[in-house]
Amino acid sequence: MKLSLRDVVLCLNGEAYSGPDADRELLRVCTDSRAVAPGDLFFCLRGERFDAHDFAQTVAQAGAACIVAARELPGLPCPVVVVDDTQKALGRLARCWRDRFGAREGTRVVAVTGTAGKTTLKELLAQTLGGVLRVAKNHKNFNNQIGLPLSILSADGTEDAWVMELGISQPGDMDELGPIIAPDLAVVLNIGPAHLQGLGDLSGVARAKASLLRHLAPGGRGLCCMDYPELWTEAQALLPDVEGFSTKNSFAKYYARFEETLSEGGGLYEVIMDGQAFWAELPACGAHFAENAAAVVGACHMLGLDAERIASGLAGANLPDQRFCCAESGCWRVVDDTYNANPLSMRRSIEAARLLAGKERLVLVLGDMKELGPGAMEAHRELGAAIAAAAPDSVFFQGEYAQAVAQGAPGVAVTRVDAPGQVLEALAGLSGGGTILVKGSRSCRMEEHAKALLAGL
Ligand code: ATP
Ligand code: MG
Repeated sequence: MKLSLRDVVLCLNGEAYSGPDADRELLRVCTDSRAVAPGDLFFCLRGERFDAHDFAQTVAQAGAACIVAARELPGLPCPVVVVDDTQKALGRLARCWRDRFGAREGTRVVAVTGTAGKTTLKELLAQTLGGVLRVAKNHKNFNNQIGLPLSILSADGTEDAWVMELGISQPGDMDELGPIIAPDLAVVLNIGPAHLQGLGDLSGVARAKASLLRHLAPGGRGLCCMDYPELWTEAQALLPDVEGFSTKNSFAKYYARFEETLSEGGGLYEVIMDGQAFWAELPACGAHFAENAAAVVGACHMLGLDAERIASGLAGANLPDQRFCCAESGCWRVVDDTYNANPLSMRRSIEAARLLAGKERLVLVLGDMKELGPGAMEAHRELGAAIAAAAPDSVFFQGEYAQAVAQGAPGVAVTRVDAPGQVLEALAGLSGGGTILVKGSRSCRMEEHAKALLAGL
């Protein structure tokens, strides 16, 4: 990081600072009082349970070089920059970093959004670009009004490209995140019924996701999936020259189609990139990963990579943990897709697991899909229908919606479970193996099931 105290004050309050330590270079931006190291710039954020202003003294004693706070904090041994809202100030500093210090001439700033698969796409794209360029990306899933600025501020400005994921759950979120990053390339991956408590309905989701295109840097470009009519219409209205990718329409500028499964959970995809056809291998199989492949291909092509580089980048990429990651245990294949779930990703993962299992046994170990508002019951009944369509051999369900799922899947036995050991017990008596998909919303902690299965089968 090459930010001085003078830079920070100028950026946050528009004032020329000439007090003590004005030229001291700040080493890192930090918002976790337990993780402060000497030389850090600390932002006092207010969370649901804690107000970091209460820890300012400890933070200063731990060696913070400067503290950004929403009120005066007298008696501290380091300078305090007072702002109206510390979270917004963090976003402003990230934008300053993006404009003045971070994104040097020629750095391409890419923002990715969508309902399901943002982190997967961010990782696949960053790793593919990484074969040719120096790339910065968000740490893990740091994609909200705090995580995005921290990710931007941890890029050191020597990179050729930044690939950052933006996650929203409320209508105004994109108008807060978009201006922080002001991307040169915005990629909208998909839409589905998720965060409906905040976003209302699918049109609300389409409007909110597409609105990233309002926040492009001057000369910035957009890339959007054409397979969702509400989203594509919205995107074209906002940016008439938006580029499109598709998994359905082979006449799209960027097209990918899942062809077949490969060993160890990989997949082969047919790609057409601006008229040029080629085959690409991905570390994931299933029709929905064609969407991610088409988005990577489109973004890489728009950033100047050729087909050979893109194919070799995709082939060498790794999926982030808990996103459809396959592991073998005895004669079983366990698909750990436990990072999160919403109706779109749930349905697609079940379809992909069916494909992977082929004619062999398919076991589904699923948990609730959260944050669906008043439509939750109906969404779980629809999940039941998707389960029935995949004709699994066994279904285990953990959570409050087990009954709704069972109602939607007449003829399928849905066993309610509360603890990981129960699934293991039920499977232990079976001869032969098969494919087990484990998935549910983050708070269901379905990874405990995956761990128990991998350890015990
Ligand atoms: P979050 O909103 O929690 O940040 P995300 O959009 O970053 O989620 P991921 O974490 O990449 O999404 O993946 C969440 C789930 O969606 C995983 O189960 C993953 O396998 C699945 N997934 C990945 N790509 C797609 C896609 N194109 N369509 C549907 N589901 C997908
Ligand atoms: Mg994510």
